Amino acid sequence: MPAAEDCTKHYLITGGAGFIGSHLSEALLRRGDSVTVIDDLSTGRFQNIKHLVEEYGKGPQSRFRFAIDSITNETVLDRLASECHAVIHLAAAVGVRLILDEPVRSIETNVLGTEAVLKAALRYRAKILLASTSEVYGKGNSVPFREGDDVVIGSTMRSRWAYSASKMVDEFLALAYWRSKELPVVIFRLFNTVGPRQTGRYGMVIPRLIEQAIKGKPLTVYGDGSQTRCFLHVADAVAAILCLADSPEAIGGVFNVGGLEELSIQSLAEKILAKVGSKEEIIRIPYEEAYQAGFEDMRRRVPDISRLRQTVGWEPRRTLDDILTDTIRDVRRRLQG
Ligand code: UDP
Repeated sequence: MPAAEDCTKHYLITGGAGFIGSHLSEALLRRGDSVTVIDDLSTGRFQNIKHLVEEYGKGPQSRFRFAIDSITNETVLDRLASECHAVIHLAAAVGVRLILDEPVRSIETNVLGTEAVLKAALRYRAKILLASTSEVYGKGNSVPFREGDDVVIGSTMRSRWAYSASKMVDEFLALAYWRSKELPVVIFRLFNTVGPRQTGRYGMVIPRLIEQAIKGKPLTVYGDGSQTRCFLHVADAVAAILCLADSPEAIGGVFNVGGLEELSIQSLAEKILAKVGSKEEIIRIPYEEAYQAGFEDMRRRVPDISRLRQTVGWEPRRTLDDILTDTIRDVRRRLQG
């Protein structure tokens, strides 16, 4: 009898030691696929994937490998890409704080890094899933954001918009590889993804406010607190990425991946205080003090997820309350350890 066909796949995950990459690696390994991670540990942490090395990375049946390197190291990237069926490209400069503090490195990582990954994928015709961001909607005020919307971004004199522009270049480049070289490409735009292992170090509001509440410090709300976001549990984001990876219909498409419960940052802070059981106060910090002079924020950021829903049948399953419960538990564990 012929051996059953092996349907498992080998994925290369760039930025796989980061917050989202480590959850994604875990999900792929759990379902039986093989994973190679390349990460330079600039914002990723070995701690995020240590358990995967121990569980899946040892012995002759090993299905997990980890290269500490930059995606701009062409030789290494080429070798790793040659061994994979598909590449999930998550490596990027993340977080508003980092973009403002290290603008040159952020733009270069996003633009040159993606170019290198697309070139490597093309040499081996590996399918590529490119992580993009809701930042590409800039300060547009059509709610909710649809993938085909026109985009309004701010002046080049305001550093924040460098991130949007660099990720837009990534999207243009990836779509050009699909249209002119038939490289199978899928783009997903992540909206405010949150959960265990995310750090507040690069600005992300939920782990920052939770850490402040647990440490008994006042919660810092920037601006007047009326700006809104829709948060998505990382487990839901991973489920969406897996659906997209498995769907031939998704190829050549751009998809919003986001949560649907819109809330203001002020009410988020109030919910966090109540859930942590803290009596601390909420303080307002002007944007120019929190970031830099002339900083521009988005007033509302809400995704339209109908394209993803129709193409792969995905829906977010976790509520904001689930997100806060899991993140509070994780931050508590981290602060104790
Ligand atoms: N924010 C805040 N306090 C903080 C960190 C962030 O009020 O300590 C605000 C930030 O100005 C933005 C929102 O929370 O309006 C979400 O910020 P984050 O950096 O998490 O993501 P963004 O949506 O800006 O990419």
